[in-house]
Amino acid sequence: MFTPQTSTILIVDDDRAMRLLLKLAIEVEGYTVIEAKDGEECLAKFAQHQPQMVLLDAVMPGMDGFTCCQCLRQQARQQSAIVANSPDSPGWEITELVEVPVLMITVLDDSDSVDRAFEAGATDYVTKPIHWAVLCQRVRRLLNAYWATMQLQAQIERERALTLQLEAANSELKRLATIDGLTGIANRRHFDEVLDHEWRRAIRDGQPFSLLLCDVDYFKAYNDACGHVMGDHCLEKVATILAHSVRRPGDLVARYGGEEFVVIMPNTPILGAQQIAERIQDQLAQAAIPHPQSFVASVITLSIGLLSIVPERAWSATEALKRADQMLYRAKTGGRNRICSTVQLFTLAPDVN
Ligand code: GH3
Ligand code: MG
Ligand code: MG
Repeated sequence: MFTPQTSTILIVDDDRAMRLLLKLAIEVEGYTVIEAKDGEECLAKFAQHQPQMVLLDAVMPGMDGFTCCQCLRQQARQQSAIVANSPDSPGWEITELVEVPVLMITVLDDSDSVDRAFEAGATDYVTKPIHWAVLCQRVRRLLNAYWATMQLQAQIERERALTLQLEAANSELKRLATIDGLTGIANRRHFDEVLDHEWRRAIRDGQPFSLLLCDVDYFKAYNDACGHVMGDHCLEKVATILAHSVRRPGDLVARYGGEEFVVIMPNTPILGAQQIAERIQDQLAQAAIPHPQSFVASVITLSIGLLSIVPERAWSATEALKRADQMLYRAKTGGRNRICSTVQLFTLAPDVN
């Protein structure tokens, strides 16, 4: 990063003697000088050296100072548009373009030239014949202002980058808050939120709604036989099988707690839900996770309670969940490793038996 004291200044004048005088006056102040003899050379050297300031004679043969200044401003705008659209762009719109100061040298008492200079985008002007002390003061003041603006811009960009990082961290935190740490599927909290949301939507839309409650059979015995670490691995595998068995984007598989899992299937009638439950059983059978202490199979199995309902306002999501749990209980008492389902038709007073 440059400092005002170590800046590079591009001097543009067609008069060689004038260039020399300007160069001497500028170099005495400690700045580095590069020279151009007309507008075209100025544009080329500006692009090549990226100076911190341009001292630009207004009247030159060929491209004059006014046109040259306009071109410099246009080039800078195009460059910033390229940066904003490039893959390395910081991700926000660059609204503040810090312009390199252009100090235009006009003829004394020529108010038309002064107006044209500002219209062309000049930052300030000095008049000919040059008052050298005034010139040096102007140069110093403009470089200080440019440097301060650059610092401010850099600060704003750092803060914007930090804000973006913070937003990304916050959304990651929100995502993590919805996930079960062991299995990587949705946690109970997220399930509760989604159930509430989908339940209300099903009531609004009059759509069928299905719920699966799945429980690993004889899992305590599995833990006792294989240890808790293996138990944890087993739960991870079961969760993965469940997650891969549902296909619709609106479906949700969550860990309900312990070795119990739940699947929400909005807009799904009993037949579709039954297919999913059977697919889960099939996939689990194919995975063939050995269970040395199960009384129903030599592998890990699930009991599943299934509820299908077209919900109406008289029913709450909690009652629906209770009914699915009753189906799970029936699957357990009926011998485990099976699906028990109910299609709940609307009744004003839900029968919980
Ligand atoms: P049932 O067939 O009737 O469901 O029998 P079960 O043994 O599976 O049911 P029970 O409720 O008696 O035991 C559940 C077991 O699941 C007990 C508990 O230690 C185990 N468990 C719950 N959460 C975890 C976990 O995160 N990791 C491990 N390894 N075990 C867990
Ligand atoms: Mg259980
Ligand atoms: Mg169990």
